[in-house]
Amino acid sequence: MLPANIILFTDLDGTLLDHRTFSWGAAEDALYEIARRRVPLVFCTSKTRAEVEWLRRKIGNAHPFITENGGGIFIPHGYFPQRIEGAVTVKTYHCIALARPYDEITEALEDIAAEAGVEAVGFHQMSAKEIAENSGLDPQQVQLARQRDYDEPFFLAGATPKKEEKFIRLARERKFEVVRGSRFWHIHSGSDKGRAVRELMKHFRAAWRMKLRAIALGDSANDLPMLAAADAAVLLPRHDGSLDEAVTSELPRVTRGSAPGPEGWNDAVLKLLSA
Ligand SMILES: [Mg+2]
Repeated sequence: MLPANIILFTDLDGTLLDHRTFSWGAAEDALYEIARRRVPLVFCTSKTRAEVEWLRRKIGNAHPFITENGGGIFIPHGYFPQRIEGAVTVKTYHCIALARPYDEITEALEDIAAEAGVEAVGFHQMSAKEIAENSGLDPQQVQLARQRDYDEPFFLAGATPKKEEKFIRLARERKFEVVRGSRFWHIHSGSDKGRAVRELMKHFRAAWRMKLRAIALGDSANDLPMLAAADAAVLLPRHDGSLDEAVTSELPRVTRGSAPGPEGWNDAVLKLLSA
């Protein structure tokens, strides 16, 4: 069978994976159908390379992937016939880095915190036990989440809202992005899920020499650039059933999923494939 002319990009947490159990069990029918039709499924996530590699092995996925909110694109060696301009070899991948490297990020985090007069505690300063307690991840997953290339999760210890504001302002002045996630704050520079999707589509088009459509699935504001960069996008509801307004206000015509997590993912993908 010839490959279908779509490339599927998906967020993981709360989208392909259940937000609490991290299970993809409810999506197995759609995953089977994707594999049968040889549709490339590209994970595009805030997770690290090590975390994604673990999941690729479990799910049996051998396609390129995008890590740390669009910080890095990893293309398995030999996946595309053409040379990948601007990539460096990391393990068995061509890696295109869109973000500034981790060492620079952790150094900047400490400088900015000192100048703002707040105490920032990053993953690089936390023990595995502290990360596990604060993230809900099990110890094995913590080891994978700690292997970071581009983005540092952290918390601000006892900072007043005014000091937090100063911290954010100083970070932005230095061209760092600071976002508050559900469990941690994050700091990075240059990560962009949307840019990563566009860059990777360039390579798919160069390799396959056919008209291709990017379809993306996500559930929250950090997916907005990816959903906006795709030719068609599906927004899944969050676990409480609500849709993220940060996405619907920017993309009012986005397709709405029928259920949160892998169940909604399964439904949306099977519909897309039968359309
Ligand atoms: Mg998500």
